[in-house]
Amino acid sequence: MDGPDFFNQGDLIAVLTAQPLDRFLDYKAPEGGCVQGAYVEVPLGPRKVLGVVWGAGKGDFDISRVRSISRVLDVAPMGEDMRLFLQRVGDYTLTPLHAMLRLATRAPGLSDPPSMRKVYRRGKGEPDRQTDARRRVLATLDEYGGLAFTMGELGQMAGVTNSVIKGLVKQGVVREEDTPRDLPFMRLDPDYGGKELTADQAAGAAALQAGVRSGRYGTTLLRGVTGSGKTEVYLEAVAECLSKGRQALVLLPEIALTAEFLTRVEARFGAKPAEWHSGVTMTERRRTWKMVGEGGAQMVIGARSALFLPYRDLGLIVVDEEHDTSYKQEDGVLYNARDMAVLRASLCNARVVLASATPSLESWSNAEAGKYEKLELTSRYGAAVLPEMRAIDMRVEDLPRDRWISPSLKAAVDQRVERGEQALLFINRRGYAPVTICRACGHQVGCDHCDARMVEHRFLKRLVCHQCGETKPMPEVCPSCEVEGKLAPVGPGVERLAEEAAALWPDARQAVLSSDLFGSARALKEGIETIAAGGADIIIGTQLVAKGHNFPLLTLVGVIDADLGLQGSDLRAAERTFQLMRQVAGRAGRSEKPGQAMLQTFQPEHPVIRAILAGDELGFWRAEADERRFAGVPPFGRMAGIILSGGDVSQVFDLGNALARNAAALRAIGAEVYGPAPAPIARVRGRHRVRLLVKADKGAPLQAALAQWVGQFKLKGDLRLAVDIDPQNFY
Ligand code: ADP
Ligand code: ZN
Repeated sequence: MDGPDFFNQGDLIAVLTAQPLDRFLDYKAPEGGCVQGAYVEVPLGPRKVLGVVWGAGKGDFDISRVRSISRVLDVAPMGEDMRLFLQRVGDYTLTPLHAMLRLATRAPGLSDPPSMRKVYRRGKGEPDRQTDARRRVLATLDEYGGLAFTMGELGQMAGVTNSVIKGLVKQGVVREEDTPRDLPFMRLDPDYGGKELTADQAAGAAALQAGVRSGRYGTTLLRGVTGSGKTEVYLEAVAECLSKGRQALVLLPEIALTAEFLTRVEARFGAKPAEWHSGVTMTERRRTWKMVGEGGAQMVIGARSALFLPYRDLGLIVVDEEHDTSYKQEDGVLYNARDMAVLRASLCNARVVLASATPSLESWSNAEAGKYEKLELTSRYGAAVLPEMRAIDMRVEDLPRDRWISPSLKAAVDQRVERGEQALLFINRRGYAPVTICRACGHQVGCDHCDARMVEHRFLKRLVCHQCGETKPMPEVCPSCEVEGKLAPVGPGVERLAEEAAALWPDARQAVLSSDLFGSARALKEGIETIAAGGADIIIGTQLVAKGHNFPLLTLVGVIDADLGLQGSDLRAAERTFQLMRQVAGRAGRSEKPGQAMLQTFQPEHPVIRAILAGDELGFWRAEADERRFAGVPPFGRMAGIILSGGDVSQVFDLGNALARNAAALRAIGAEVYGPAPAPIARVRGRHRVRLLVKADKGAPLQAALAQWVGQFKLKGDLRLAVDIDPQNFY
């Protein structure tokens, strides 16, 4: 392979910056020259900004006025595959390259000079005077042999103040040293702690390892029920990748998952991998970013944006729970990390593993079409068996008003409580009640900034808008008719269900799992661990519990409203309901005890409910695929959403109408335009929102046509236009 191009001092080069400019800027190479891909600091007006050396300059600018690059940063240059990746994602999502660079440099202090920090280790001798605090410091250092700690770490572990440590430093009993701030991560050992695999698992692992060994691009869909050992199997592919000296990335959908996951990785490889998600401190972010570039991080586990780290040699990307909707970024650059993982891997000869118990229809049909390889784990590990599924027909259950737990479900929970097992009541709605209505005038309390109803959260003692986050105290009088004391909750949320459960089972220990009831990711993790260890008899939870946590004592799952996801105009409503119900049901009976899942529904004959009950996954996918193929929608056709927004509703609609009338560029590729129509939530944060939808054949050159189409219009005032390729949500 050719090395990167080198530019000698004074050569004209094109630099990409993260500034909102639609072109490269020309600079001269600095003293000592620079390579293509180098991260640099360049003068722009009075400021200095971060940039990347993209290639040779064009020279279409007055050469005497071209300034020199100020400084080449002390970080690994961006590889050619990464430059190509940013370009391709930008082209696909219609995002300008400067915004792509911003996404790829989201680590603070990249342009800071390499900095040092102080660490402490055991020095010589004993202190002049022993105190308990001093003894604890020395005992801590002795316990960890030659390791060095920061002042904060040492103080915390020994339970002493900084002055105690400083006192020991003065006497030389503790030694102070300078080390570089951004250290490589601990080496992972691919031969450490492997488990003995079942025949099924071993065959899967061997197939994935052969893929990694090939050193060529390929994608495998790894399907298997929850608990079948998908994680164990793909960790073997990671091991193969590490022993080839290449880097591995594991993408996970939720922060809450990473804690449990980190422990598993550590048990398998003897050390922790690098992490990249919103819970990581700024200092750790910069360390990870730099070490990924230098090769000092062998494995990264992270959220979707970990895909945009500057890997030196990425050999494997695992997308766990690949069907999860949080892989789609819904602000800023609208990309789907699952799809972009496949693109990235194809540019750097890496393998992709898409793992799921309930794959997305997109991945399922790619595997059916032979574009992806297929691997299946058919049975659960050990004694665990899939839960028995049953519908509770709510049309015949005898239930008073404002109660949601049917007599049949209650009887089943009673049994579990008696036997000392756990039961989970699942409802996919946060808060106390989704609607607050005035019994005097019928007014429903809404958000002042959005066309959404406010949700009562009793725990917080406030009304909350789930669109914009606005909160206000529960009013005493109706905001519309001003009658006092008539505001009443309608419908159940997780908090209200908890109230009902507390009344039904006053002696059982109950735990509520909802994201807004925990102050932090750590509190949430601790809560989950306590529950898993048997700290509750009845768990009442939202979507949060569907995501991979392990509750060994759980043997019953009651789904309060299985119909909830079937409503609405979303093209993926059926698919999402199917996945969510399967996952929730998969929580039951993960260890030796068999589990049961009960779905409360008013439509037991609905095809989705029937497929869930029958466990007929293939039947469900085939029926769903036929419907979408017939309608020409993804994955059998292409779609793009156009979202227009602005403060003045008529201006927003005028722009929408103008777009619809001037769509020759789209008609030229046979695409259709629908709308403009008010978005399902027509006002968010005081801005009016209007949508258009574009539908095209699978092979049509959609991006080019879209770019030409929207490029005809200059956006005036506060009007905004966003293009969402392959939209997941239609709000
Ligand atoms: P999945 O990712 O498919 O949900 P996991 O890999 O998390 O499944 O496996 C479920 C549980 O079974 C985990 O606790 C895992 O450690 C355990 N397990 C799976 N396979 C094995 C094995 N071969 N040996 C020991 N434990 C296993
Ligand atoms: Zn709002």
